[in-house]
Amino acid sequence: MMQPTRQTEMLAGIGAVRKAATVCRAVQARMIQPETLAKKDKSPVTVADFASQAVVCRLLSQQLPVGDNPVVGEEGSAELRKGDKAMLRGAVVEQVRGALGDKVSETEVLDWIDLGGHEAKGSSRFWTLDPIDGTKGFLRKEQYAIALALLENGKITLGLLGCPQLDGGVLLIAERGRGAWKLPLWNGAGLDQAQPIHVNAITETSAARFCESVESGHSDQDASVLIAKDLGITRDAVRLDSQAKYAVLAQGQAEIYLRLPTPKLPDYRENIWDHAAGTIVIEEADGKVTDATGRPLDFSLGSKLVNNKGVVATCGPIHDRVIAAVVKHLV
Ligand code: AMP
Ligand code: MG
Repeated sequence: MMQPTRQTEMLAGIGAVRKAATVCRAVQARMIQPETLAKKDKSPVTVADFASQAVVCRLLSQQLPVGDNPVVGEEGSAELRKGDKAMLRGAVVEQVRGALGDKVSETEVLDWIDLGGHEAKGSSRFWTLDPIDGTKGFLRKEQYAIALALLENGKITLGLLGCPQLDGGVLLIAERGRGAWKLPLWNGAGLDQAQPIHVNAITETSAARFCESVESGHSDQDASVLIAKDLGITRDAVRLDSQAKYAVLAQGQAEIYLRLPTPKLPDYRENIWDHAAGTIVIEEADGKVTDATGRPLDFSLGSKLVNNKGVVATCGPIHDRVIAAVVKHLV
């Protein structure tokens, strides 16, 4: 059984991610024809993004010491406060009320979203939140994640990854130095039911299953074909949106996750909320995460991984060989 040192934070995080997941699922259930929506109207994802951030920030602030738990979140309410956004705003408020009760006011919802507006740079302790990671997957009713991590002195110390569409809904949790576990996302199961998870520690690269983004704009898929060939891998990559890729690896369902800078945007820098929760879950499941050149990910530099290029996660023993193959094909 898992006994976190940061038990209060872990329990608050679990409650917050679970509640946010129910909001995302409720918004998604009301979406019709996701194919058309994905092209013409992204509003469902916007409603769920804002509502999910409001719910997570509110629950953390309610359950943890006041002022001690700033959040660096992906969203802010500025756009939502504009006069012409009344419809969208109303929809967000309705969702937050559905999750937290009818008495919630519009002002409260907007303020809760902005609890996620903390500045990462120069801050020694904060949460980072992606209220919906993998928005394209959310619209397609495929993979997406609610990703929350605690950073202390530049290091990730807790990570929570809610994956509503993975294996019927799973919540992966990790604490630095203590391990990684999975819980059912929906049924409220307590920490006593958390099951330890581990990567599948293969030693031959040819046996690896690898995964990457669905979006070719997020990772160089042409390079990954060449890298796979160099590593003797014959199976095609499994493509998934969001940090669900880390979840798959941490549970031993794949052994390599490649996220390679693209020729179009070779200088793209990753956001901390897109990788913090996934990284600690992999590390505590005994896997390894670096950037595409083999450098450790440096989360101490603000809201972006400014000193890193891409991300490579593996089950561990094959990591150096994967990096050697990746480096040959980097743009
Ligand atoms: P994924 O679902 O793994 O493809 O990742 C989704 C995340 O990719 C989003 O949350 C964005 O922050 C991020 N993203 C956006 N543009 C790029 C890019 N050019 N390269 C890598 N990641 C990106
Ligand atoms: Mg994201």
